[in-house]
Amino acid sequence: MDNRTMMQYFEWYLPDNSLLWNRAAAQAKALREAGISMVWLPPAYKGASGAESVGYDVYDLYDLGEFDQKGSVRTKYGTREEYLTAVRALQEQGISVLCDVVLNHRMGADGTEEVVVEEEQANDRDQDIGGKQTIVAWTKFDFPGRADAYSAFHWHAAHFSGADWDERSRRNGIFRFDGKHWNGETDNENGNYDYLMGVDLDTDHPEVIQEMQDWGKWYLDTVKPDGLRLDAVKHIGFDRYRQWIEAMRAHAGEKGQDDLFIVGEYWSNELGKLTHYLDVTQHALALFDVPLHFHFLQAATSNGNYDMRQLFEGTFTGTEPAYAVPFVDNHDTQPGQALQSFIPAWFKPIAYAVILLRDVGTPCVFYGDYYGIPHDGIAAVQGLRTLLQVRKSYAYGTEHLYFDDASVVGFTREGDAEHEHSGIAVLLSDSVGGTKRMYVGTALAGACMVDVMGRRRECIQISEDGFGEFAVDGGSVSVWVRLEAAAALFIGET
Ligand code: CA
Repeated sequence: MDNRTMMQYFEWYLPDNSLLWNRAAAQAKALREAGISMVWLPPAYKGASGAESVGYDVYDLYDLGEFDQKGSVRTKYGTREEYLTAVRALQEQGISVLCDVVLNHRMGADGTEEVVVEEEQANDRDQDIGGKQTIVAWTKFDFPGRADAYSAFHWHAAHFSGADWDERSRRNGIFRFDGKHWNGETDNENGNYDYLMGVDLDTDHPEVIQEMQDWGKWYLDTVKPDGLRLDAVKHIGFDRYRQWIEAMRAHAGEKGQDDLFIVGEYWSNELGKLTHYLDVTQHALALFDVPLHFHFLQAATSNGNYDMRQLFEGTFTGTEPAYAVPFVDNHDTQPGQALQSFIPAWFKPIAYAVILLRDVGTPCVFYGDYYGIPHDGIAAVQGLRTLLQVRKSYAYGTEHLYFDDASVVGFTREGDAEHEHSGIAVLLSDSVGGTKRMYVGTALAGACMVDVMGRRRECIQISEDGFGEFAVDGGSVSVWVRLEAAAALFIGET
């Protein structure tokens, strides 16, 4: 089987031209050829900021760019028809489509209600301050522009557990609705991190539980995705979400789809929290490897003093490789965004070589790294397309790790019979260059291996016992493949 490779098909600052769905459809074939086998599309429903919404300020989950709501029929990415066409176009190329699911909160309500609340301390949401009070909250969602098409469900205050805005006094706060409690099984940052933004869904309310399932089934039937990317899972009751996933898998299974791939966004640098989530959800989903992202950032910003032996220590990929989605950057970590922690350009090829060529998880390539981010004058990552080709064609077989030096570390893959000319050696350094003797397997004995990243010019001869003495320049990565493999890779390239 070929390697599975995900791509996050958006960045925060895409132009508001409603063309992303058309672009995805037009690029489907090129993406497959580039080695992408799975595409994560952004939230497709109408956000509070209408045609400018990136999609996380979710207003109406049933409006996929079909109804005149929030000042526009289209979303930032296009219309419902264009969305469905893009999904089909990708699937026709054999690319799995992951849809972004935002169930934690709602924004842009159609009307207000008076709600009795307890105000909570912002950094300790279990601490009530000031006693009960009545606020005017944006909690009424009637979706007049949709007029009950697809669903007659209307949201009101009883369906939510908190808000952060009082329209009467026009001030912010963390307001827990009277009679409601934060879900105890969420992240413990800020005491309890059930509340994130907007009005927070009360996921213990029977009508909310039912509506989340009804919508999920409608979505699966309408869009027919191959998988889901779940937003903000640390803010939603863990077991509640596990039950929702179970219901979605059961529904998809009834429709003949038994392998719904699900990845959750649990934004935490603490490995223990990720493994805990995996445990309580009974390994129902994969998770993005946030600790590894921060290891990359640390390594890239330590002036060559990072201990490269530690790169995978304490990461989700190192601990639960089968459930890991290692990534380098995303729409939240890019410059100007909420979790800004963008990996510096010099380190990006190193980070991508590591997540794409090692035998771990389902790596995710960021749109902004693949195409660049014009908004901030950021260029595409050098060598990324080559790394994807190497992953697709040659990164197979038994892995041997050489994370044995503070600066120069590497790994090899022996290759397999199924993939012609496969087998690779990767050497990287965060400071000075160096060499390392690594085992690539006796199947490559006598082979000449060359660096497709174009840094090193020599040919490394593999000995009869399957070893080569590989080299890397300072602060870079060299990816060694058989000469025949390199030749095949560059055919047609100009
Ligand atoms: Ca919540």
